[in-house]
Amino acid sequence: MKSIAVIGGGITGVTTAYALAQKGLRVTLFEKQRYAAMETSFANGGQLSASNAEVWTHPSTLVKGLKWMLKSDAPLLVNPKPSWHKLSWFAEFIASIAQYRENTIETARLAVRARDYLFAWADQEGIDFDLKKQGILHIYRDRKGFEHAGQVSQLLAQGGLPRRAVTPAEMKAIEPTLAGDYYGGYYTESDSTGDIHKFTQGLARACERLGVNFVYGKNVVQVQSNGQVARVQTEVDSQREWQRFDEIVVCAGVASRRFAAQLGDRVNVYPVKGYSITVNLLDAASQQAAPQVSLLDDETKLVTSRLGLDRFRVAGTAEFNGLNKDIRADRIQPLVNWVNQCFPGVSTRQVVPWAGLRPMMPNMMPRVGRGKAANVFYNTGHGHLGWTLSAVTAAMIAEMIEQVTRNAQIQQLMAAPPLREQNA
Ligand SMILES: Cc1cc2nc3c(=O)[nH]c(=O)nc-3n(C[C@H](O)[C@H](O)[C@H](O)COP(=O)(O)OP(=O)(O)OC[C@H]3O[C@@H](n4cnc5c(N)ncnc54)[C@H](O)[C@@H]3O)c2cc1C
Repeated sequence: MKSIAVIGGGITGVTTAYALAQKGLRVTLFEKQRYAAMETSFANGGQLSASNAEVWTHPSTLVKGLKWMLKSDAPLLVNPKPSWHKLSWFAEFIASIAQYRENTIETARLAVRARDYLFAWADQEGIDFDLKKQGILHIYRDRKGFEHAGQVSQLLAQGGLPRRAVTPAEMKAIEPTLAGDYYGGYYTESDSTGDIHKFTQGLARACERLGVNFVYGKNVVQVQSNGQVARVQTEVDSQREWQRFDEIVVCAGVASRRFAAQLGDRVNVYPVKGYSITVNLLDAASQQAAPQVSLLDDETKLVTSRLGLDRFRVAGTAEFNGLNKDIRADRIQPLVNWVNQCFPGVSTRQVVPWAGLRPMMPNMMPRVGRGKAANVFYNTGHGHLGWTLSAVTAAMIAEMIEQVTRNAQIQQLMAAPPLREQNA
């Protein structure tokens, strides 16, 4: 049986390992942390949001981006220090504006398909991840934002996702705890939320039951392939060792670019930092005053999720500052202020801040497919939608690898000398 190495134990690596193991393939997953989902898949916004499928490669993003660069509490922050990586990424981002429509439609299509896999796997494996199927409400404070959302809705519909416009009164009925004045909203009943970390941990345990070998706590320093054999070199306490595999899948989040370069491929993932706060709802009054329905505030670019009875997650902001993971107080404060403003009855006395790096491709589309070498595959670069999309892209890459394996076996059989009949 073919052996496959999966590099990375975040949501993309674990879903990939699961989809491969379900097909009966022999999988080893390498993760430098001691547990699964400790990097970007740790405390994200929690939204399984087909309704957030709009790619950012729209001309208005450039205009807003320039305005935001002059505001200290804006959702976007770019470290002005130039680097080749950042410049090349922005150049490709601008070049991708031409594909805004088709990429938004395709992302919506993938996000809708992803639900079937994710919910089926959670059911099958009995994973509790605070899933809440109460929809996502996009909120708008002005007419311009609301009208743009109307145009986006047409693209989402082409991708198979219906969502409806709602009046301020309807918004209040959908989520009574939301304070403030709004122009209108868009509600997507079919969207949901859940805890990415809990889900990934649960699926990792399911993978173990299916026989996946997890190599935790070992840093992968090098990967190689000659097209037939793939090699993975790990390092612990200055001790290095190589392991051989038939195939390799790179799911290493923001490290995928480095591994792709070692394998002779270009996967121009940039680390786009975001922040979240988890508000611990310690008293009954806060639990009552926090929303049940997930929200997406398009102006501030913040998303929310209610995780069980006593946690409320708020996430957002995009920072272009390389591999820096510092949690900056001045970037966390706008998230806390937003909660105080929109949900004044929620106590923000106990708030847990977090920062993570979105592995983002310049065209905002995940890289799912083969590398230059015949036995190298990628399932990475899911950017702001890795939680939403990973189940379907894992299923896609597993299908591709199974087919390649099957074709190779057929070729081997055809190349083998014909069997002579016994005693002929
Ligand atoms: C603030 C924020 C909010 C977000 N909100 C949402 C949301 O609401 N909905 C949504 O769909 N998406 C959201 N996302 C995006 C989503 O969280 C990511 O797309 C997803 O978690 C990326 O998963 P990954 O597996 O690609 O990367 P990771 O989770 O980072 O996994 C990669 C793994 O590779 C491992 N690795 C790297 N290098 C090595 C090495 N040398 N050796 C061994 N292992 C290695 C890492 O340790 C890591 O565990 C959000 C992201 C952020 C930052």
